Amino acid sequence: MTRPLLNRRLAEFGTTIFAEMSALAARTGSINLGQGFPDTDGPEEIREAAVRALRDGRGNQYPPGPGVPELRSAIADHQRERYGLAYDPDTEVLVTAGATEAIAAALLALVEPGDEVIALEPYYDSYAACIAMAGGTRVPVTLRPHEGAYVLDLDELRAAVTDRTRLILLNTPHNPTGTVLTRAELTAVAELAAERDLLVVTDEVYEHLVFDGAEHLPIASLPGMRERTVTIGSSGKTFSFTGWKVGWITASPELTSAVRSAKQFLTYVSSGPFQYAIAEALRLPAAYFDGLRADLSAKRDLLSEGLAQAGFEVYRPAGTYFVTTDIRPLGATDGFDFCRSLPERAGVVAIPNAVFYDHREAGAPFVRFAFCKKTEVLEEAVSRLKRLA
Ligand code: PMP
Ligand code: GLN
Repeated sequence: MTRPLLNRRLAEFGTTIFAEMSALAARTGSINLGQGFPDTDGPEEIREAAVRALRDGRGNQYPPGPGVPELRSAIADHQRERYGLAYDPDTEVLVTAGATEAIAAALLALVEPGDEVIALEPYYDSYAACIAMAGGTRVPVTLRPHEGAYVLDLDELRAAVTDRTRLILLNTPHNPTGTVLTRAELTAVAELAAERDLLVVTDEVYEHLVFDGAEHLPIASLPGMRERTVTIGSSGKTFSFTGWKVGWITASPELTSAVRSAKQFLTYVSSGPFQYAIAEALRLPAAYFDGLRADLSAKRDLLSEGLAQAGFEVYRPAGTYFVTTDIRPLGATDGFDFCRSLPERAGVVAIPNAVFYDHREAGAPFVRFAFCKKTEVLEEAVSRLKRLA
């Protein structure tokens, strides 16, 4: 057969870096600070809620297409209570198989072949693949290191918009850089979207993981934005159940219905009993969310300081559970080579940020470490990484 099996749209995407690096960690017995998943499960009472749902026969058969009503109303209450955003649980909330399906369904529904999609670079890997599956063209706008953090250049963003731009794909708090977009930046994005009549799809899966008083602001809450924004959330990060794959969107009835059109032919439905458990999780008291933030903030400090002592330049994240580093002070320049040899050199696995760049040279010296791990695991990783100095 002369024709390649994998179609042209997907040919550039091999195995995801997360699978590759988790396999490397397993093969070498290294500490896995690559793929972002916690090594401790979420609250016991939420696990029990899932068990109860299973035993009571709730969600064991196909749940309703838009999601179970208990979860849709918990999502609507969460958006209203936290952000003052009112969504009708029946027409403006859609439950998905994680944020991953929400991203795929939103792009497949809203992008025509030939449309341009602006994404912040470094971009989460599934954005690129889903833009490609939708037949769109990705237009990266690069976040650049500046005074210890990554910042969005608003002029560059404005210059990236053309007559073919369909939507801006935002991610805040941002994976992998840990940047939390400010009100001023989001206001500028909102003005641009209104001026050029663009949709905004915003991935806010790390909304609860913000540190040092940084505020997560959903762009949908800015004037005029509710009608042109699809907001994506997920229970995976907030409740430390990444395997349950309960995600959602909130958007106007028209946008929700468009995304549902694609979603119904992807998974149709998923995660039945877990939807009931996440409905309870979203109603946990403020102390749960504060505790999660405090725990991760301490772990961020532990890992950031350890990495700095080991010789990395560290970009201290304002949000997410990732820290991006520059490896050049260690005499290295290529993050791929560095990450492939790190298990042997230090018994640790990390992610080369270059995979999240079209401009691979711009991302080459950056490497991401996850800190959603037990304190003793992070301490051991830090002590091993000191061998690099
Ligand atoms: N968006 C971002 C920015 C992520 O880091 C992740 C990874 N977990 C996802 C989406 C996917 O979320 P989910 O596991 O809910 O599909
Ligand atoms: N979001 C996780 C990360 O950024 C990985 C999820 C996945 O493996 N698809 O590390």
